[in-house]
Amino acid sequence: MATEELFREDADLAECEATVVRVDDQGLVLDRTVFYPLGGGQAGDRGELRLADGTVLSIADTRKGALPGEIVHVPAPGQDAALARVTPGVAVRAAIESARRQRHRRFHTATHLLCALVPHPVNGCSITAEYARLDFHMTDPLDKAVLTEGLATYVAQALPVRHRWITEDELDANPGLVRSMSVQPPRGQGRVRVIDIAGVDLQPCGGTHVGNTADIGEIAVVKIEKKSANTRRVVLGLADPWPPAP
Ligand SMILES: [Zn+2]
Repeated sequence: MATEELFREDADLAECEATVVRVDDQGLVLDRTVFYPLGGGQAGDRGELRLADGTVLSIADTRKGALPGEIVHVPAPGQDAALARVTPGVAVRAAIESARRQRHRRFHTATHLLCALVPHPVNGCSITAEYARLDFHMTDPLDKAVLTEGLATYVAQALPVRHRWITEDELDANPGLVRSMSVQPPRGQGRVRVIDIAGVDLQPCGGTHVGNTADIGEIAVVKIEKKSANTRRVVLGLADPWPPAP
């Protein structure tokens, strides 16, 4: 059974009520969830599942399951007693570690802004709470200070970031729209989710984003690497440290 993906419509949602559908060696499947599974370069969420009896199960990662649309919550090791209580049909309150998710959102939107600043194909992407990196297929050199300044300008402009769904029929009818996308949309699913940063970038993406570029805050290009003759890697860092100081 496909898991209802609450995070696709509302990235602010940190908690939800859900029912356990299946538990196996891989982890737990719920009927609905706020946990984003690793994908599109973005790390899977961490958090916890709380039962009405007070049991708390810590979730260390979230992955896509073997079945289409299924999301697996991977428990942290050493929780046998708690796991024994989490059986199919049990109601849970699913809560993500929202401070970590917020960093994924800030970094993810920043990578889309970077795509607008560096108009070359992307052939790799990783978004974590500590850093984000994008690999561009290009041979020209890039300048750290220029890119950091470009990102700061978009952040200062406080541009709205919105998602919407486009059908493949609409894409076929609008070749200009497809051409304008910095990443080409996948086909075969009927509809495609796109992230639209007003006037700056439009691309297909299933990830979680901030609602406005101002929410990214202070961000910098911390490293540019020449990974190969045709690949330039750009690494982003946030001004506030992670994990946060105790
Ligand atoms: Zn994206």
